[in-house]
Amino acid sequence: MAGQANGRNCWAAILGDCGGPLTREHVISDCLFDGLSVTVQGFNWCKGQAVNVGTGGFASKILCEKHNNDLSNLDIAAKLARDSIQEAHRIGAERIAAGLSKNWPRRVIKVNQTIFAQWCLKTLSNFSQVQAGSWSPNSALVEIIFGKRKFPANTGLAIYAKVDSKIKIENSFEIVPIMHSTNGNIDAVVIKFSGFTFLASWFVQLDQLTQNMIGYDRSSFIASGARPMQIKFNGNVSLEFRR
Ligand SMILES: [Zn+2]
Repeated sequence: MAGQANGRNCWAAILGDCGGPLTREHVISDCLFDGLSVTVQGFNWCKGQAVNVGTGGFASKILCEKHNNDLSNLDIAAKLARDSIQEAHRIGAERIAAGLSKNWPRRVIKVNQTIFAQWCLKTLSNFSQVQAGSWSPNSALVEIIFGKRKFPANTGLAIYAKVDSKIKIENSFEIVPIMHSTNGNIDAVVIKFSGFTFLASWFVQLDQLTQNMIGYDRSSFIASGARPMQIKFNGNVSLEFRR
């Protein structure tokens, strides 16, 4: 049967249109990383520890061929986001280094926040499936990841960005699921990527989440809304996450 192997299922099987065998899906998009350091914690299979799973080559048979291919646009979007962050940082640093004038023309670099949030949730689903029998994404989440359902109001992407903080654009990736306080389900995910901390949710409102996140200053979250989320770099460069 399509989307099955050794008793395991494609995690998007709930869509009902699996095609081809289960294929090896890179748990983190292959196109993103060369020799990336990946740290994972909070999943069942981590047993309470922060686990370093090595590089982006980490792959597992968790999606059928069709669904694997259907999500390749999210991988490309995540790479674009990574490149955009680096570009904003690079232009700002170059302008400051040149130092000739403070009247740099405003430069805005845009990232699609909806697709980036879908990628965060796809990556969460991938990690949750590394070990069979773990938490699985439900139909609403799978539909959102595949673009068949919209994010409910006040869910999606938030960015943790402290004013005046120095961002170190580093080649590392960290993922931590946000567990519900009592029922053990996953409510959202934190992904640290290219020096930024992102929060993605698909049913709990972002405001409610940021209020309860231990170790984070709530006022430092830029939450998703109608307006673009904007991060200003030195040198009059802005990174805008737009819907
Ligand atoms: Zn499938």
